[in-house]
Amino acid sequence: MAEFLGNPFFSCRNCRNPLALREDLLNKNFLAKTGQAYLFTNVVNIALGRKEDRQLITGKFAIATIYCSNCGVELGWKYLAAYDVKQKYKEGRFIIERSKIVKEY
Ligand SMILES: [Zn+2]
Repeated sequence: MAEFLGNPFFSCRNCRNPLALREDLLNKNFLAKTGQAYLFTNVVNIALGRKEDRQLITGKFAIATIYCSNCGVELGWKYLAAYDVKQKYKEGRFIIERSKIVKEY
């Protein structure tokens, strides 16, 4: 299990599995099912669901649902591919719902 000793990070609200470094948080202004969501460049200790196409607010994407590797709770999704050129910067990045994580120091 990856850990982030000495650096602020976010962990799974359900089981405290470390998921992402604070410095890998790109943007807090995203929306997911339960409300606010964060965009990260990198997330660890997750399991990926199968690839699927999804129509999101900003367009159509190929995404995979991401789950906590420890407790299996659904956290958000990974952008695998964007159909809109302007959305390509999201490819390979991750959305995690704010309600599913806690900030750790
Ligand atoms: Zn968990």
